[in-house]
Amino acid sequence: MTQTPAASPRAPFPFDNSYARLPQAFFARQTPSHAEEPWLIKLNEPLAEELGLDVEVLKRDGADIFSGNLLPDGADPLAMAYAGHQFGSFVPQLGDGRAILLGEVIDRHGKRRDIQLKGAGATPFSRRGDGRAALGPVLREYIVSEAMHALGVPATRALAAVSTGQPVYREQVLPGAVFTRVAASHIRVGTFQFFAARGDVDGLKALSDYVIERHYPDLKDAANPYLGLFEAVCERQAALIARWLHVGFIHGVMNTDNMTVSGETIDFGPCAFMDEYDPATVFSSIDQNGRYAYASQPGIGQWNLARLGETLLPLIDADSDKAVEAANVFIKDYGERFQIHWLRGMREKIGLSSVEDDDLDLIQSLLSIMQAGQADFTLTFRRLSHLAGDDGRQPEFLATFREPEAAKEWLSRWRQRLWREMTTDAARSAAMLSVNPAVIPRNHRIEQAIVAAVEEADFSLFEALLDALAKPYEDHAEFTGYTQPPKADERVLKTFCGT
Ligand code: AMP
Ligand code: MG
Repeated sequence: MTQTPAASPRAPFPFDNSYARLPQAFFARQTPSHAEEPWLIKLNEPLAEELGLDVEVLKRDGADIFSGNLLPDGADPLAMAYAGHQFGSFVPQLGDGRAILLGEVIDRHGKRRDIQLKGAGATPFSRRGDGRAALGPVLREYIVSEAMHALGVPATRALAAVSTGQPVYREQVLPGAVFTRVAASHIRVGTFQFFAARGDVDGLKALSDYVIERHYPDLKDAANPYLGLFEAVCERQAALIARWLHVGFIHGVMNTDNMTVSGETIDFGPCAFMDEYDPATVFSSIDQNGRYAYASQPGIGQWNLARLGETLLPLIDADSDKAVEAANVFIKDYGERFQIHWLRGMREKIGLSSVEDDDLDLIQSLLSIMQAGQADFTLTFRRLSHLAGDDGRQPEFLATFREPEAAKEWLSRWRQRLWREMTTDAARSAAMLSVNPAVIPRNHRIEQAIVAAVEEADFSLFEALLDALAKPYEDHAEFTGYTQPPKADERVLKTFCGT
């Protein structure tokens, strides 16, 4: 289903805008605001190719297109309506206050993808916001979303970053920028809540049918497609959040408006990767009660999915008791689904290919020792992967822990378990190296890249970090620095929102 871009230099996008064909209540049409002096910081050329876009045109006109100054032919710019629970409180109308969907393209794999500008000016949903974005959060989203993709975690993608040449006014005056995001869709749990809050069952049905068609076409013939939709979203979110835990990712703002129904990670605001393992880790400056702490994410996922389930009740069954009963089955199941995904990935992380009852205990005891020993999450598993193929690397592994004695005992228990595996050491080590990354976007590295860009207009650290993150499961001597945790004076303990 390859589509070729139109020949006109003003039409490098083969748009087909299905969301814009939905009823009026779904969105507000909005053209992007003008940027004074746009400059293309970064174009993701491989992604542009994958989307079937004309890369040469984008290299030439990217600053104008990705700032919103030049609307490509076929774009139908709009801001999407949605509601959401923010830190547990329901807001019946949020919507895209600083994002404008340009349109959708069918990529080279036949998949429909949204192309959205973030920071291109106010929309009818902006309330008191300016609809603009600052350079720092734009670079952060670029880095982290591309890193997640390279790690194999479903996530929205970064197509471009543009500097606007205009200041944005926050607590300080900051350089402005626009981020171009690509998503399987931007439909959120909060999109369903928007219609449910208005008692608009027709709108809900139109939305659900649209989501089934776009993301879960196999459900069209199911006995109850809406119940099927709920189950499918629960499954994808269970799998997604398990992946976050496997790589030490903390989303930071798991509000229902920041949870997709496609199963992609979205909205990289105050998100961060953990260095030392501690399940209570929180980075976001606005998460004072630790609602979205690392280990709370699976439970919050379930809470958000329960909110989605509530919106679907009138479509699931005309008898509300029966609808509640049917939806509850999947809310309860979610815990088990999550556990299956999490445990499968954790078994892989410690090199087990067979299944034994005691594996959970073996994994949990490693995590406890890591926590007590203030071990770096990423380095522990990477070094264990190397140790699996070469006993000589044991001192390096043990050095990850403050108190190596407990880690040594754990290793002997682990080795006893490995005797009952049918794999060679070399194969086990290779398999572990392919799931335990060497390079993650460590907070201090992101911070250094942002500071250089914002204060000195120096994008070399940003570029270098992106290069290091592109192949996270390989060891490259030139990227060794990026595998290391922060030194005491480099530690970043707080992260901030994109606003
Ligand atoms: P977020 O924190 O990105 O999930 O955004 C929450 C809500 O605030 C969404 O409705 C955003 O569109 C809106 N918002 C965030 N930043 C701005 C801004 N600078 N201008 C207008 N609306 C914004
Ligand atoms: Mg959001």
